[in-house]
Amino acid sequence: MKTKFDVPDCLGNNCAVLCPACGKAYCVSGFLNKKAPRKCPHCGESEISFPAAKEIWNACDHKPEIDPEQKSNRLIFKKEWLGYDVWVTFTEDGTTYRYPHDQLLQTFISRLGIIENTKSWKGNGLYHFPRLSEAQKKILERYIVK
Ligand SMILES: [Zn+2]
Repeated sequence: MKTKFDVPDCLGNNCAVLCPACGKAYCVSGFLNKKAPRKCPHCGESEISFPAAKEIWNACDHKPEIDPEQKSNRLIFKKEWLGYDVWVTFTEDGTTYRYPHDQLLQTFISRLGIIENTKSWKGNGLYHFPRLSEAQKKILERYIVK
């Protein structure tokens, strides 16, 4: 069983963790998962207890001040933005998009099956798109700024 978790957020007795197997987020609770670890509800391939998640959270270098409005020169996903309700604005070929980072990331992973297992995402915590494909443009259509 893989064990390397990212813990993007902790609040009181709850931690949000990113499953190292499938990359999706789930919550562990200080009440329910103090002793009994919780299995990933999405894939069942990982499990973590609240104290273990809290320890990872405490050990990492927090950047609590993440600006929820980000600008980029291309479509990009960053692990450090996860859990901060970030919206990203970028322009390609004269079209400006403003997208909800976490939500779009989930859509890209589930619909296009990319990103989560790449070296760039796992190693550097980011994934960007030099050019949008037609499928990607279609997903982004609803986020065009008029
Ligand atoms: Zn999972």
